[in-house]
Amino acid sequence: MHLDSPLTSVLRLTETQRKALVRLNLITIKDLLFYVPLRYSHYVESSNIAEAPLGESGSWYGVITNLSLGKTWKRGLSKAEGMLETSNGKVRLIWFNQPYLAKMLKEGDTVRVSGKLTEYSGERSISNPEIESVPELPPQESGSLFGERSNEYFAFPVYRETKGITSRFFYHALAKILKGGILEKLVDPIPSFILEKYHLPSLSTALIWAHTPKREEDALVARKRFSFEEVFYIQLQKQKDRKVYEESEGYTLAIDKEKVESFIKQFPFTLTEAQKKAIEVVLQNFASGIPLSRLLEGDVGSGKTAVAATTAYAVVAGSSLFKNKEARISDLQVGYMAPTEILATQHFESFIQYFKHLPVNIGLITGSGCRKFPSKVDPSGHTNISRAQLLKWVQDGSISILIGTHALIQKSVHFKNLAYIVIDEQHRFGVKQRQKLTRKDHRLPHLLSMTATPIPRTLALTIFGDLDITLLDEMPAGRKKIDTKIIPPTKREEMYAHIREQLKEGRQAYVICPRIDEPDPDKEMAVQAKSVKAEAERLKRDIFKTARIEILHSKMKPKEKDDIMLAFKAHKIDILVATSVVEVGVNVPNATNIIIEGAERFGLAQLHQLRGRVIRSNHQAYCFLLSESAGTKTMARLKALVEAKNGFELAELDLSMRGSGGLIDGKQWGVSDIAMEAIKNLKMVEAARTEARALITRDPNLTQFPTLKASLELRTTQLHFE
Ligand code: ADP
Ligand code: MG
Repeated sequence: MHLDSPLTSVLRLTETQRKALVRLNLITIKDLLFYVPLRYSHYVESSNIAEAPLGESGSWYGVITNLSLGKTWKRGLSKAEGMLETSNGKVRLIWFNQPYLAKMLKEGDTVRVSGKLTEYSGERSISNPEIESVPELPPQESGSLFGERSNEYFAFPVYRETKGITSRFFYHALAKILKGGILEKLVDPIPSFILEKYHLPSLSTALIWAHTPKREEDALVARKRFSFEEVFYIQLQKQKDRKVYEESEGYTLAIDKEKVESFIKQFPFTLTEAQKKAIEVVLQNFASGIPLSRLLEGDVGSGKTAVAATTAYAVVAGSSLFKNKEARISDLQVGYMAPTEILATQHFESFIQYFKHLPVNIGLITGSGCRKFPSKVDPSGHTNISRAQLLKWVQDGSISILIGTHALIQKSVHFKNLAYIVIDEQHRFGVKQRQKLTRKDHRLPHLLSMTATPIPRTLALTIFGDLDITLLDEMPAGRKKIDTKIIPPTKREEMYAHIREQLKEGRQAYVICPRIDEPDPDKEMAVQAKSVKAEAERLKRDIFKTARIEILHSKMKPKEKDDIMLAFKAHKIDILVATSVVEVGVNVPNATNIIIEGAERFGLAQLHQLRGRVIRSNHQAYCFLLSESAGTKTMARLKALVEAKNGFELAELDLSMRGSGGLIDGKQWGVSDIAMEAIKNLKMVEAARTEARALITRDPNLTQFPTLKASLELRTTQLHFE
């Protein structure tokens, strides 16, 4: 038995099981070994199911029998049934409208069933029970046959299951593999001095504890090791990137303080203290010559664009000490990359306002065309130019600031002297992309990455581990807090009345729905959530008869989307019914109302982003949250949204409330579920960061740690293939 042997060489598998394993991407013994359980479940004492009073909720262990599928007699809903046989008696299990749940089971499965005892057609039963497969029945349920063995453990592992394969299967398969002596072939990639320092188990101990725990504490310690390990790998990679930046030559800039001061004075507002500090720290970085590598994290509306504009100006108005020491409008250039055309165009327009009194040429490049400011004909406006012309001016340095979408970093774009790049809301702009932008002399441009996505500090330290972090944790003065309300069904009319009032006053509104089309009624798993199309129809017909209502969603063409957004911005539309595509950062100050339907379906961070759409002016803004369920978890999350002071606080709340479902979606950041557990723990993240940094400083290529090096490389290539 080898780590890379296929599972089929050691396990006797049915065709269904084999397919299920492939679906879970479990091919080799190693894959299975590292398939860490999702969580652990305890055996709990359960009441006698034959005698427990009706109405009692609880959990019972037993065997599944008599599975069948059908339809309900009256409403034709799909219905699945089965029996749970416990040592005390039987009870009927019924699933309405979710037959896929029953299809995951087969007769003879040992399970734990949770739910409420009721009577259905004169029989003791549980409707829509929760089912969890268990490897074996607890001693009191299993009779004498397994009795002696089951006493050995108190917690059993629960794995992510799929059709045809249960936790029970995993439990037995892993027990077999672990007994086969495979662990002796494993080499632990984590240096033992690190494991000892943080009291973490070795790899083989951790695997045994994870899959066949004797005590729950052991299982938890094993998980802790795996989550540390994941974060440690991420940190190693980030620290390597960081080292690349630190050792690269950047542009040493001479900053003309007076010019920067007068630039700041022409803003139609006074900068917040947070903005001033952010500018200051960026300018200090510029002067040091080490390539700036900084994340600017600030809530929606905190004024990141002004920081970007001021620092961009400092670059084009200063000079590069490397070239000459005279202060003049230098030939250094700035690139400003936005995630969408709308945003790029918006930034271009803002920059024109900020730079109109200065001799600085600004370009815009997007998929649908190029522009230049100032125009020869109208020095206060811009002109459309050909792509070829723009590229020429970028290459000869006469365009100093180039704003654009991804088009900005295409191969055909050659800067003369790109000294500074600002990235708005692009989560992954790694060292590779950045190096592509360097010139032949290998000088690395300064980089400021900006994000409004509220993420907890620990997550930021992990995924942006290669960057320094600056927070814009202060809102411009005079901003009113968004009035956020959770709307129960009885208050819907009142909300619509408020919106009518607002429309009368000349304001606009967004209505966000979780889906685009109506659900397909033939699909078993159809989600009954509001759709953009149907909701727009309904609002036109029944609620806002005179309002101009349009829709926006991801299946529309980019051009259509832009047209709608522009029409909304120009107030040719009163109400925009949209999916969550209403993009990050889109600026329609007059839209001060947002209704979010099916709010329970969005993560907190996303809800916060959506709500951010209406914080763009000094009019009082309103956010209404409607939810189809009033469960305690849903309510707790929505309440957090009502109460949290800012995005950072919300992100921390989100993390602490994060159940197994996951509200902050780690995957969005390339962070696995198990690593997200470490993210909950600041100490663990800091430990991983400290150790990674120490190791990379001492041994940048990890030559003394070959197993670690190999694991890290394997991980990086795997990530790139995804
Ligand atoms: P974000 O951080 O979301 O990118 P923006 O830079 O788009 O925020 O700024 C949001 C709005 O606030 C803009 O209209 C901008 O002009 C304005 N603004 C920025 N800084 C200040 C300030 N210090 N005082 C008042 N308004 C400001
Ligand atoms: Mg912005």
